[in-house]
Amino acid sequence: MFLNELNDAQKAPVLHKDGPLMVIAGAGSGKTRVLTYRIAHLMNQGVDSFNILALTFTNKAAREMKKRIADIVGNSEAKNLWMGTFHSVFARLLRFDGDKLGFPSNFTIYDTQDSQRLISSIIREMSLDKDIYKYKQIQQRISSYKNSLITVKAYFQNPELQEADAMAKRPRMGEIYNEYVERCFKAGAMDFDDLLLRTNELLTRFPEVLMKYQERFKYILVDEYQDTNHSQYLIVRALADRYQNICVVGDDAQSIYSFRGANISNILNFQRDYDDVSVYRLEQNYRSTKNIVGAANSVIAKNKNQLEKVVWTSNDHGGKIKVHRSPTDAEEGRYVASSIFEHKMQHQLPNGAFAVLYRTNSQSRSIEDALRKRDIAYRIYGGLSFYQRKEIKDVLAYLRLIVNPADEEALKRVINFPARGIGQTTMDRLTVAANQRGIPIFDMIGQLEQHPNGINAGTRRKLEDFVTMIRSFQIMNQQADAFTLSEHVARKTGLLQEFKKDGTPEGITRMENIEELLNGIKDFVEGQKELADAKGDLTEFLEDVALATDMDKEVGDEDRVALMTIHLAKGLEFPYVYIVGMEEDLFPSAMSMNTRSELEEERRLFYVALTRAEKQAFLTYTQNRYRWGKLIDAEPSRFLEEIDEEYLEYITPVENYRFKPLLDGDIFGEVDKSRLRQRKPVPGKPPTSHKPNQEQLRKLRRIKPQLGEPSAADPALATLETGSLVDHSRFGRGEVLKIEGVGSDRKAEIRFEQGNVKKLLLRFAKLKVL
Ligand code: ATP
Ligand code: MG
Repeated sequence: MFLNELNDAQKAPVLHKDGPLMVIAGAGSGKTRVLTYRIAHLMNQGVDSFNILALTFTNKAAREMKKRIADIVGNSEAKNLWMGTFHSVFARLLRFDGDKLGFPSNFTIYDTQDSQRLISSIIREMSLDKDIYKYKQIQQRISSYKNSLITVKAYFQNPELQEADAMAKRPRMGEIYNEYVERCFKAGAMDFDDLLLRTNELLTRFPEVLMKYQERFKYILVDEYQDTNHSQYLIVRALADRYQNICVVGDDAQSIYSFRGANISNILNFQRDYDDVSVYRLEQNYRSTKNIVGAANSVIAKNKNQLEKVVWTSNDHGGKIKVHRSPTDAEEGRYVASSIFEHKMQHQLPNGAFAVLYRTNSQSRSIEDALRKRDIAYRIYGGLSFYQRKEIKDVLAYLRLIVNPADEEALKRVINFPARGIGQTTMDRLTVAANQRGIPIFDMIGQLEQHPNGINAGTRRKLEDFVTMIRSFQIMNQQADAFTLSEHVARKTGLLQEFKKDGTPEGITRMENIEELLNGIKDFVEGQKELADAKGDLTEFLEDVALATDMDKEVGDEDRVALMTIHLAKGLEFPYVYIVGMEEDLFPSAMSMNTRSELEEERRLFYVALTRAEKQAFLTYTQNRYRWGKLIDAEPSRFLEEIDEEYLEYITPVENYRFKPLLDGDIFGEVDKSRLRQRKPVPGKPPTSHKPNQEQLRKLRRIKPQLGEPSAADPALATLETGSLVDHSRFGRGEVLKIEGVGSDRKAEIRFEQGNVKKLLLRFAKLKVL
């Protein structure tokens, strides 16, 4: 009986029948397991799988949960469950009912790049200064409006917002927003934020639709509830309002997405939002050793803002957490690679038992280099994903156009690729003509005969040929599955030929990638055949691609070490975890030390990182690190000090791994011995700790600022004063409110046009004075 796989505390929320419940518990205590088993139990009790909705952090997590549930209740029962991320679930809902808002059921999903391209062309068409109206900033701004449910109408009813944009010298922001929304609408497209915004709109404006889904989803379950944003929160509330059978699980100590609008108060206020909430707590951690749990507890205790929680484990003590210092980031990479290698050999482990976690994506490079040298297979999650590659986007754009010929961004991408002699001027004329008539560009091409709009007969023929080709694919799409059609498209459009003709190694890689995509489509089609309500057609495939989260994009199933940012690691677990770059300004990030709450979020991030480890955690830091093209002096992260001493073991630096003969010999090449002289191991004597004591640390902090003088900073920053206007590489333009500190400790408080005020250390701030 599967209930025996739960402890008593876990059983209670699983057996809880109706009414709202919340499971609040620390990492590794079985929250996700409770959610999974609760679904299985509901089904065993006779609840129709059709009436259950489960929202997860990644689609992969949803697939795994579904598999487990299928093991318990049987595959045919599990098939009907609606499970997935907010975005994928509500995209599906909008396919059914988006027509009420005027969207076709085959609407396209624009990714960030599509949105940016569209905004960029709107700025051009409106003849605005593109240095003031920066398309990326505008896209972010529109995205944050949407996540706060500020529609175009709401924008124009809000004088404050308009004033802020006018002050930022962008008085026409509202017009751009309006045009963007209209163009998406006309193209039958929704961006990521629309999937939530439009769902909210649908449920608010159409009570009968709301009622339908309230009746359908009698039981709603949400994992990682601490990281829901306002838009998501409202959707859940609306859907759960009728039956109140809402089960949320989460851990306020693991809320790490506030920069994307996640609102920790959603979990804190849950008891206020629903009547008679049952709150369950889980305390036993099943994932990690005593040392890891103890260390994580000691860190998170430093946060003031948190719900009281106890986490303990009956697992073994395990090894202490190993702290390792390296002279540089390259050495750090080598340490990680050789440590992985040694543990693999010693315990006969697969690569998949190891994960390397970092604060920022750019840290992966030195780790990758070292792993490659050691021939250890790895996989990077996040970063530029497979589906973002140029050639893949080209194929996908053709496929999108077949499904939805109104898709303007897809059309612009491929109408002249491979080259067909259709130039920018032609496209500009077409766009203007189509906008005047309020019809898609694709349809405008069909009307050129009567309204040539200055496009000559030769070019017209080329355009018409293109349309004819897409139409022929559309006809095929009525019969063929996604794979057969895609293969045909890759050939007929000349895409494969184009890359083959290229002949360069890149061209060949691109061809191989397209082949890989086709294989992926084939797999997808096979998989869909097993599902009750799926057809395996192009629409389904495109949706799957558009909504794959970074974690989902897995190619092949080879055994690899996992490399990812800590943000992506949420909810996962690995026997061995390396957390690299444990240095001030990197982790905690220099960008997130301005307020107490930012620092607390960094600390929660560290808590998440540590609690991913089952058997052994390693923390590494360097003394020097290349950042922004310069070698800077690094100092150990404050988080290292925050862990109770009893859980840590400072292992011998450098020499230990550098000179110890490795199984495959010394592969490190030339060594700068002067760097390593500091500490030669004495034979027979255990290595001494190199942990700097408190006094040394304080000293380190005091002297550090003189080292690593302005790295990326512009010397012009010396002239900075209150009132100066500046441009920051990430936050955009802003005005200096205050300057404080001297020398390398000099800080500026800046109000950015995006609306936030930040205090930046000038030594590191990537600022330009305007
Ligand atoms: P996180 O906060 O990191 O999301 P979580 O609370 O969701 O963690 P789970 O991932 O559900 O925790 O569980 C952690 C690990 O402990 C998993 O490997 C799970 O299978 C195991 N586990 C949970 N409960 C039990 C139990 N009662 N008996 C045995 N193993 C368990
Ligand atoms: Mg979990």
